Amino acid sequence: MTGALAAFHEDRPLPGDAIPFGSNSLQHGTAVFEGIRGYAGVDGPALFRLDDHLNRLLDSARLLGVDHDYDLAGLRAHVLSAAAGHGDVYVRPLLTTLDTALGVDLRALRFTLVTGLWPVPGRDVRPSRPARLTVSPWRRPSTASFPVRAKATGSYANSALARTAAVRAGFDDAVQLDPVSGRVAEGTVTNVFLVAGGVVRTPWLADSVLAGITRDSVLRLARDLGLTAEEGPVTEAELRDADEVFLTGTASELVRVGRVDGAEYRAGPVFDALAEAFRRATTGPDEHGWLTPVPA
Ligand code: PMP
Repeated sequence: MTGALAAFHEDRPLPGDAIPFGSNSLQHGTAVFEGIRGYAGVDGPALFRLDDHLNRLLDSARLLGVDHDYDLAGLRAHVLSAAAGHGDVYVRPLLTTLDTALGVDLRALRFTLVTGLWPVPGRDVRPSRPARLTVSPWRRPSTASFPVRAKATGSYANSALARTAAVRAGFDDAVQLDPVSGRVAEGTVTNVFLVAGGVVRTPWLADSVLAGITRDSVLRLARDLGLTAEEGPVTEAELRDADEVFLTGTASELVRVGRVDGAEYRAGPVFDALAEAFRRATTGPDEHGWLTPVPA
């Protein structure tokens, strides 16, 4: 997400926008967070799949063993108040510690919610060139090394290594592999889909993959469209031989992939149909119960 931070909202007053230098989360990457999209929408501003994001935040905190005072209703009230009055926006609730105790024993630390908002340009002004990807030499963290289902700030050093190396080599982004199976896992901040013989496929969660909320939405939208949509093991060869490839994520939405290293993919009908279904699902009318209105 580029551009200036538009607003900042926290439960405990901070000195300006500052997180203390000694914050354990800043020093050791121990914060957990979510990325949620707000859309201006045909029925007014709303957040997409808010409770699903907040339940994943609660799971991330539990998986990392961090101590906080929030339940789902408390998180929801905080985030809705932070997002009040905003339409097209990226919302970043961060459960971070402001305690300045160093060390990696998290038991004595209290975590508090701080939410930042970034404005998002409308869809029509964003570049639509298909992405050029490379398979990264940096594999995802192993499920034996880290709870990969948790969105923790520290694990994004791995994504940053993979993305930065790919961009330095002239690509837009990287595909990362599962460290044990060597199969396709995900993008650096996105999930990966392929279409082969009309069937929509994405790597299963048995590999080192974040359970993306856009991924789940796309699987459901594909089935609504009458397509077969499957989760399963995906090899590099299957990715290479696919008819269509695309990435999914809250900030990126659906991004068509034009090539992965030497393999090229055509613009295809399945991506177009899913992108249109996703546009309707996010901007309304709300047919799935996925939109939570934000206060004016
Ligand atoms: N994988 C990774 C590593 C991510 O950071 C993200 C972004 N949250 C995703 C996948 C996509 O998840 P979602 O659709 O929930 O944004």
